[in-house]
Amino acid sequence: MNDCVFCKIAAGEIPAHKVYEDDQVIAFLDIAHFTKGHTLIIPKSHYSSLLDTPDEVLAKIAVLTKDLATNYKPILRADGFTVKQNNGEVAGQEVMHYHVHLIPHYEGDKFKFAVQHKEQKVDLEKLANDLRGE
Ligand code: 5GP
Ligand code: ZN
Repeated sequence: MNDCVFCKIAAGEIPAHKVYEDDQVIAFLDIAHFTKGHTLIIPKSHYSSLLDTPDEVLAKIAVLTKDLATNYKPILRADGFTVKQNNGEVAGQEVMHYHVHLIPHYEGDKFKFAVQHKEQKVDLEKLANDLRGE
């Protein structure tokens, strides 16, 4: 992908602060740091979203995310982590190259992804049936 910023990082054409790299994946610090240690984990090959990323690549990135969080915990003294992954503009995806955000949290930090639970008029019984294909 000629104009994909993450492909350029994967190819070494633009710099990034890498924390891990092998032949398939790279992890590097997010340029717009949300909390200290905010990291992006990407496949080197271009896949635009979760839906078109091969299962073995997803599995590898899931395990790497866990390993990075395990390593970061004592180094950063992180108290918890958010793992975030946006798919599609409507979901807030800005770079259309599959990536996972690993976001450390610290006691007292104000950066929460609190979900506002609102009462929705949805028939959950029917919806679950529909989603199971019944
Ligand atoms: P999205 O909103 O697509 O889930 O997240 C894209 C992320 O990529 C953003 O958090 C943004 O700060 C980060 N980003 C975009 N361009 C660059 C770049 O050139 N270098 C780095 N390190 N991060 C980038
Ligand atoms: Zn790309």
